[in-house]
Parts: sequence; C-alpha cells; structure tokens
Amino acid sequence: VLETRGVRKRFDDHEVLRGIDLDVAQHEVVVLIGASGSGKSTLLRTINLIERVDDGQIFLSGMDITDPRVDADRIRARIGVVFQHFNLFPHLNVLDNVTLAARRVHRMPKDEATARGRELLDTLGLGGKAREYPDRLSGGQQQRVAIVRAIMTDPELLLLDEITSALDPQLVGEVLDLVRELKGRGSTILMATHEMSFAREVADRVVFLKGGVLVEQGTPEQIFDDPQHPDTAEFLARVH
Ligand code: ATP
Ligand code: MG
Repeated sequence: VLETRGVRKRFDDHEVLRGIDLDVAQHEVVVLIGASGSGKSTLLRTINLIERVDDGQIFLSGMDITDPRVDADRIRARIGVVFQHFNLFPHLNVLDNVTLAARRVHRMPKDEATARGRELLDTLGLGGKAREYPDRLSGGQQQRVAIVRAIMTDPELLLLDEITSALDPQLVGEVLDLVRELKGRGSTILMATHEMSFAREVADRVVFLKGGVLVEQGTPEQIFDDPQHPDTAEFLARVH
C-alpha cells in the first residue's frame, strides 16, 4: 500500500528525515517508535502531503504521490488520519462530525453517510452518542469518534499519530481497544506511539527512528526482545 523511498525533509538547516525507506503492506500494522524529535510525526505528515518532501518519493498503491502534478486533496481523501489532539467540530454532533467529510469530500449521499456512520458508531461502541456534542464526551470517546470519522470511507491507509498521548491514563485503553478492532477488520495502519506495550501487542512490524534515520525494524519480538542496533537497545532501556 505504501512505499517511501529516500524521503528527506529539512526545516531550515535541520534535516529531520534523512532518507527514509519504509514499506507498509496491505492489512499490515506498522508502529513507529523513537525519541521525541526523531521525525515520526514529520514522516506521517509527509505521507499525508501536509509537508512536502525535499527529496525522495512516496508511493501510495503504486502511485508517486510526491509528483508535483498530483492533486493533494485527492490523495488525502484516500488516507485516514487521526492526530494527538482530537479535532472534532464543536458545533456539530457526533453523527455530523463523522459524516461531514464523507459527504463533502467523498460526495457520499446523505442517507448512505448517515447509515454508515450509525453502523460504525454502533459496532464500535458509540451508538448511544450519535446526537451528543463533542464537549459532552470524554477525551477517549472523542478520540474514538475521530477514528470512526477517519474510517468512514474505507481509506487505503490509516495514519495515527500519538492518538492516546493527550488522554488520561484510564481513557487510553478504550482507544487502543478500537485500534485492535480495526486491525481485526484488516485495516492498513501506520502509527506513531509512545505506548510500547501496545506497540508490542498490536504491531506486525515495529520501526525505530533516531534523528530522522530508520535505524532498525522487525517484529515486536525482534525489536523489543533482541534489538540488533545499540541505539535501539539504548532507547528501549530508557523508555521501559
Ligand atoms: P514526538 O515524539 O515528540 O512527537 P516526533 O518524532 O514526532 O516527536 P517530529 O515532530 O517529527 O518528531 O519532529 C522532528 C523534528 O522536526 C523536531 O526537531 C522538530 O522540532 C522539527 N520540526 C517539526 N516540524 C517542524 C516545523 N514545521 N518547522 C520547524 N521544525 C519542525
Ligand atoms: Mg510526534
């Protein structure tokens, strides 16, 4: 689904991504780990075309989306994104939040969007909240609504950036449960997280970044139990 090749990004004289080659296969869950500032968010933002790469290519289902001729909005419509801070519209209820982009961006008919939104909210444990406004929901519920919104149109790829890091610890579990559910449904997910136990449990592959370099990648067992690179071992020793 996704291939990045030699992706480089600099801000002023600081090179934040220094030639990233990363693949994500269909139905795969790939988790990015690494210290603060290692480039995880920047990499996700280049894939979503929020940041333009300085060098290298990114292929989405074989199409080079870094080609300047591509329509960024059409690419973004194929990718679901959830960030750390839930950005629901406060003046819209849950169902309208979930269906808005599907209707506006994807031109999904209102009846279809409503039916699909209700079905997803029901199956993902938010059925009773469809008419609530975001400020009446817990942070965990808001983040789950943001995830439902991101999967409304069956995106080819789901990008999740620290989706639990703004939550109180007791609310983290319900959001992670939802990610487990998406994995079970066969979603293709690239996520950045500081939740190492969750990464170990849900990841098909773990990727360790340091200073904008992909240092090491492997199964959770390989990375957490038997890291090959001293930088990986040092990072894990610090966060555990
Ligand atoms: P965290 O774990 O804290 O979320 P991260 O791995 O996601 O960190 P990034 O947010 O990708 O790290 O940041 C990588 C580096 O790029 C940091 O040094 C950051 O200050 C810098 N950076 C990110 N965005 C910008 C920007 N728009 N302008 C300038 N510098 C930026
Ligand atoms: Mg980040």
